[in-house]
Amino acid sequence: AFAKLPDAAGDEIFAVNHAFTIDPHPQKVSLALGVYRTNEGKPWPLPSVRKVEEKLFAENDINRHEYQAIEGDKVFLKLTRDLIFGFNGRTESLAEKQAKRRIASVQTVSGTGANHVGALFLAQHLKPKHVWISNPSWPNHQTIWSLVGVPRKTYPYFNSRTRSFDFCATIDILDSEAQEGDVIVLHACSHNPTGIDPTMEQWIAIADLCEKKGLFPFFDCAYQGFASGCLDEDAWAVRLFFNKQPRMEMCVAQSFSKNFGLYGQRVGAFHLVTNGDSAAVIDLVVQNLCHIIRGEYTMAPRGGSTIVRRILEEDALRKEWQRDLIEMSSRIKAMRRALLNELRILNTPGNWDHIINQSGMFSYTGLTLKQVLALKDRHHVYMVKSGRASISGLTESNVLRVARAIDDVVRT
Ligand code: PMP
Repeated sequence: AFAKLPDAAGDEIFAVNHAFTIDPHPQKVSLALGVYRTNEGKPWPLPSVRKVEEKLFAENDINRHEYQAIEGDKVFLKLTRDLIFGFNGRTESLAEKQAKRRIASVQTVSGTGANHVGALFLAQHLKPKHVWISNPSWPNHQTIWSLVGVPRKTYPYFNSRTRSFDFCATIDILDSEAQEGDVIVLHACSHNPTGIDPTMEQWIAIADLCEKKGLFPFFDCAYQGFASGCLDEDAWAVRLFFNKQPRMEMCVAQSFSKNFGLYGQRVGAFHLVTNGDSAAVIDLVVQNLCHIIRGEYTMAPRGGSTIVRRILEEDALRKEWQRDLIEMSSRIKAMRRALLNELRILNTPGNWDHIINQSGMFSYTGLTLKQVLALKDRHHVYMVKSGRASISGLTESNVLRVARAIDDVVRT
């Protein structure tokens, strides 16, 4: 029955990571997987996370492994909603109360699960003719939307000549080809893989276009606070759309893998924003989301979400977490500068300024496939075929080696 299965090649990023793991070379470097590493090249359980883990262990709550509600931990959902939409948990104006009433939230199996639950819900209930995904994008967007059976189109995000966001081409294609009710997937900040985000003016124009054409914005937010170190700055685009008048329907898939370093814990949330404030509509949306969740995995895991909840609800821990975010984002920025500096000293042909102009975890280096393969074969430096480098794989002790390797493959 299975001999004629289609070829479903494994995920490239995890395949490259495997090749790196089994490479015995002592000075190998991985710039493939989007995970934070310290200057010693080690994983970093965040100090704020560790503190909560110790507290939870000491508390020894006998309910800690019980089932939770299908929609997830309600306190976690309120706190994560407030984090992305910018509500202050304490003082609540009337406008804020009304704004909160527009949002239906459920807990998900991290950002991937939020993207999937959201895509399935919209496929069933919005029935878009197409979903528009940036070219390039996180490859899983294509997989997720193909699994829910919505025809996919791309908008030309990246201009390789100028190494910048192709704003005009994006607006042109959406204006001429997108149809009312189509979904557009937008990266809230730190676009993966290019590291290039629209400017504020460009975001405003994209929001206006969504309104004019009746497009449904689907924000994927995997790097809040991790990109710039500032939670509000990284949520700017989401809040622009959310606060736009007249009100728009939209949604946000929220991941806590990177900003809490909880990759394997699978912590996430999905928020669907309605344009009214009817509690009955919100109830219906939550019910239907829960129907999907129940059929697929019953409920999201509670281990990691308890940690996130505790950090967000306690002032001192929240401040400590914000310091952790600054530590991670600053190290990545410093490594961008160090790599550019070494390439300049080596006089490597070409302009490499984009390394510091891009933001977040990745740099879209502009290296060709041939150069990426040569980096691996000749220098044991690993990155994905597109030339996307995960900057946190760089350390003070390997950055010169990586720069020399890039210099070599560019010259030959
Ligand atoms: N969206 C984007 C754009 C991402 O880069 C990632 C992480 N690589 C995710 C979603 C979700 O990852 P996770 O499922 O680990 O939260």
